[in-house]
Amino acid sequence: RGKRAFIAGVADDNGYGWAIAKALAAAGAEILVGTWVPALNIFETSLRRGKFDESRKLPDGSLMDIVKVYPLDAVYDSPDDVPEDVKSNKRYAGSSNWTVKEVVESVKNDFGSIDILVHSLANGPEVTKPLLETSRRGYLTAISASSYSYVSLLQHFLPIMNPGGASISLTYIASERAIPGYGGGMSSAKAALESDTRVLAFEAGRKGKIRVNTISAGPLGSRAAKAIGFIEKMIEYSYVNAPLQKEQLADEVGNTAAFLVSSLASAITGSIVYVDNGLNTMGIAI
Ligand code: NAD
Repeated sequence: RGKRAFIAGVADDNGYGWAIAKALAAAGAEILVGTWVPALNIFETSLRRGKFDESRKLPDGSLMDIVKVYPLDAVYDSPDDVPEDVKSNKRYAGSSNWTVKEVVESVKNDFGSIDILVHSLANGPEVTKPLLETSRRGYLTAISASSYSYVSLLQHFLPIMNPGGASISLTYIASERAIPGYGGGMSSAKAALESDTRVLAFEAGRKGKIRVNTISAGPLGSRAAKAIGFIEKMIEYSYVNAPLQKEQLADEVGNTAAFLVSSLASAITGSIVYVDNGLNTMGIAI
């Protein structure tokens, strides 16, 4: 049978998660997605009404089939962690079993196991603020939503991942180099994610024969990136300064993800793989 993938962080057809889902589907994988609870309704409605049909097209002409959409809020591990105001919030009360532990239980009940785990989500409420103006709460929320969410997902999914499987996340160069504008502790969150990639690769490798890598992606005008506010400038900067002066497509990240989780990458784990037209290699560009 084909491989089964769970992709956390798909809520429209613009982001990296969607492109990764498509690349995995094109390679024959069965696609399950985890969608942030507040975005679930509109995503499912749009899917049902065919709004994504054009972008569901795979190279062979068929449409990507998303076998199941799970509501997910990756900042909560189990129901005990959910504050009252969130529980009673209309958008959350309309769905159930969306904490990490419950989602994994649902996937286990529905399908038994998975082969591939993709983490394509981030959130930093103060991302537009410089680090010098970031509150403790904003910083910790960025880490919780963007870094620990990955630790938690892998922790809970590992027991139902088939040996030989693989996991990836998405990171950004602001973890290693100062990128003014990527604030609110998001640069710190990506640094944590990259460090955790190495430690989790060791632990999940030894414990479950699972490989763990992260893709450091170039700028893409996704919904999340538009909320940061400077994405058009970053795309332009990359175009002007990168070794490859071309637009960087989400599909290029999707294809790399498909390679990294496939047996073609069977000796690659704990790595940061750059998919950014080479921008990370530059010191100054003239
Ligand atoms: P996106 O908006 O498509 O994806 C982010 C997703 O995270 C959204 O679907 C959102 O609903 C979800 N999300 C937010 N908080 C969540 C939570 N608590 N629980 C579950 N889901 C939650 O945007 P994207 O830019 O494709 O982001 C995907 C990944 O790529 C992120 O890790 C991002 O940091 C990374 N990345 C993006 C860029 C870029 O320029 N867009 C560059 C490098 C890395």
